[in-house]
Amino acid sequence: MRTMMTRFCLVILFFYGVLPYLLSRGFGWKVIKKSTHLSEVALTFDDGPNPLYTPMLLDILKKYNVKATFFVLGYKAQLYPDIIKKIHDEGHQIGIHNEAHLPNWSMRPKTVQKGVERTSQLIYSLIGERATVYRPPWGMLNAYDLLKKTPYTIVLWSLMAEDWRIAGGIPKIVSHLLKSKGGDIILLHDCGKTFGAQEMAPMNTIQALDIVLPELQDRGLQFVKLDKWIAKDPRICRTDTMG
Ligand SMILES: [Zn+2]
Repeated sequence: MRTMMTRFCLVILFFYGVLPYLLSRGFGWKVIKKSTHLSEVALTFDDGPNPLYTPMLLDILKKYNVKATFFVLGYKAQLYPDIIKKIHDEGHQIGIHNEAHLPNWSMRPKTVQKGVERTSQLIYSLIGERATVYRPPWGMLNAYDLLKKTPYTIVLWSLMAEDWRIAGGIPKIVSHLLKSKGGDIILLHDCGKTFGAQEMAPMNTIQALDIVLPELQDRGLQFVKLDKWIAKDPRICRTDTMG
């Protein structure tokens, strides 16, 4: 009986979590991972806002006139509404990264949906605009996320710099970021307080960006918000997702 239950749970986990993960991460099904705009890259920051690092990061972005997209957590947006307004006022895009930093595999569809909706309402009440992009923590979509109709474009990434860990320091992040190519969606973090991350890690990210941003600009790459790509031609993003 116990073996039967274990098998049943594994089958449910496979279809609810593992298969959607493989389809979205591996094959780019119903998600965006990169674009075909080869002179542009999109910087994205997850897990904030954070009262220490997000304002520092905004200053670095301002220094190089770079625009980015922030995937924020609802409960942190509630704690730091002024930072959400500042992100918006400085011309960046705000997306949703769940209400709390939990994998969608661990939650019922309705729980995920209600958390996202509460976060969306909060963002709207703060900046007067609806979020249009969504990224689940760790990119762990569940079956319902993929099958339901949603007002959000689900955005994963094509390049990450492993910046949630301090090991390797600034040189590791610089080395990853210098591999950026046009069309990349780059995953970074402006908070280190989530499971598996290290609290001080965003300091390395910020210092690495101070080195890398002018270098990539010298190569002719422009930094754009995701809505620029999505507004231009959503199919371009959706059809080139195999990388
Ligand atoms: Zn995250």
